Amino acid sequence: MATDVVEKSGSAGEPAEFNMLANARAYFEAAADRLGLNQNIKDILQRTERELMVNIPVNMDDGSVQVFEGYRVQHNSARGPYKGGIRYHPQVSMDEVRALAALMTWKCSVADIPYGGGKGGITCEPADLSTRELEQLTRNFVRAIRPIIGPRTDIPAPDVNTNATVMAWIVDEYSSLEGQAVPEIVTGKPILMGGSLGRREATGYGVARTALEVLSLLGRSPEATTVAVQGFGNVGSWAAERLYRAGCKIIAISDVSGGYFNPEGFDIDDVMRYQETSPRGLLQGYPDCSQKITNEELLSLEVNMLIPAALENQLHSGNAGEVKAEIIVEGANGPTTLLADKILYERGTIIVPDILANAGGVTVSYFEWVQNLYGFAWEFDDVINKMDSKMVTNLKNVWEMSQDEDISLREAAFTIAIKRVVESMKLRNSGYTAM
Ligand code: GLU
Repeated sequence: MATDVVEKSGSAGEPAEFNMLANARAYFEAAADRLGLNQNIKDILQRTERELMVNIPVNMDDGSVQVFEGYRVQHNSARGPYKGGIRYHPQVSMDEVRALAALMTWKCSVADIPYGGGKGGITCEPADLSTRELEQLTRNFVRAIRPIIGPRTDIPAPDVNTNATVMAWIVDEYSSLEGQAVPEIVTGKPILMGGSLGRREATGYGVARTALEVLSLLGRSPEATTVAVQGFGNVGSWAAERLYRAGCKIIAISDVSGGYFNPEGFDIDDVMRYQETSPRGLLQGYPDCSQKITNEELLSLEVNMLIPAALENQLHSGNAGEVKAEIIVEGANGPTTLLADKILYERGTIIVPDILANAGGVTVSYFEWVQNLYGFAWEFDDVINKMDSKMVTNLKNVWEMSQDEDISLREAAFTIAIKRVVESMKLRNSGYTAM
C-alpha cells in the first residue's frame, strides 16, 4: 500500500504516523488504484462534500462562559443520507472528523446499507462537565448544526463518550426547533423514545459475530481461543460479553483506569455488574483480577485474538512488532496506523478492519431509522439476527476477495466499498461514466 501520504505532518506535535486523515487517504488511494479509478473521481472522494465548524458557548456551573469547538463533516452522499456518530473527546479536530466521516462512507458501503458517510464531534473532556453542562453543550451544538442535519439528509448517532441520553437531548432539541416530533433525526436513542432494541449492544455484538465467523473460517473453536479486549465501553464490553457466552476465554480487559489480567478468564457478567455501580462505570478496583497491567502490556499479550475497542492509533510502528495475537478484530475506528498495518500484514496477522468489523452499530442504526419511518418496533432477537446475517455475508465477500486476489482484508473491504460508491456516483451523474 502507498505510504507516501503519511509523510505529511500530523496535527500539532503528533508524529506523522498518527495523522488519521493521512492514513485513511492512503488506504483509499491503494484501493482506488487497484480499481483503476481516474484522478477526477479520486479527487472528489479524497475531499469531503461539506464541512461545518461551529463555536459553541456554554454557561458553566461556576457562572463563567466557555466556548467549545464542534464539527460536522459530510463526506459523501452518493449512496444515501450522510450517517455517522458524534464524539466528545479532547482529541477531536477537523482532520480527525474528516477521516472518520470518510470511514463512515466506506463502512456504510461495505455494510451494504443505503447511507453515505458523515461524522461530528466536539473538542471537550466530558468527564470534567456536569450533566447540565453536557446537556447545554449538546443542545447548543444541535442549534448550530441544524441547517445541515435532518432525517433525510444527515442522521447522527452515538460515538466515543456519547450515548442514548445525549441522543435524547438531540431529539428533544431538534424536535422543538422543528415544532414536531422527529425521533428519526438520530439513531441510538433510548428505547422509550423510539430507539431500537439491540442498538446498544449492536457494535460489540457485530464485532463478536465477525470474530466468531473468522474462527470458524479458520477451523478454530471459541473454547480454544483466548482474547484481550482494549476498551470496555460501548463496543468492547458487548463484544467481550458475546464472545464469553460463545465460550472464548477473555483474559485481559481495560479502560481509562488501566488494564486487568486474569489468566483463568474473566466472568464477564460479573465484570458488567461491577461496572453498573462503579464510579463513572470504570473497572477501577475490580476484585476478581489477578494482576493489573498497562495498556502496552495488554496489546502485546500472548493471546489468540486482540480486540482494540478504544481509540485510534493504538497499534503503531512502535508496538506492532510486539503483538502476539494472530487475529485482530478492530472494534474501534482506526486503531491501527498504516505503518502498523503493513508490519502486521507482512507477519501474517489477520486484521479484520474497522469498516467491516464494527459496522454492526450503524447497521442497527439503519434498522432503527427504518422502524421509526414505518412506526414499527422489532423484537431484540429479530434485530440481532438481521444484523448477524448481514455481518456474516459482508465478511464472506471481503474474505473471498482477499483470498482470490491475495490482498489484506482491509484492502479488500476498501475495494468493495469504493466500487459501490463510485458505481452510485456514475448512476447519478452521466458525466462520471467515462471516469
Ligand atoms: N459511531 C458508530 C460508528 O462509528 C455508529 C454510527 C451510526 O450508527 O451512525 O460506526
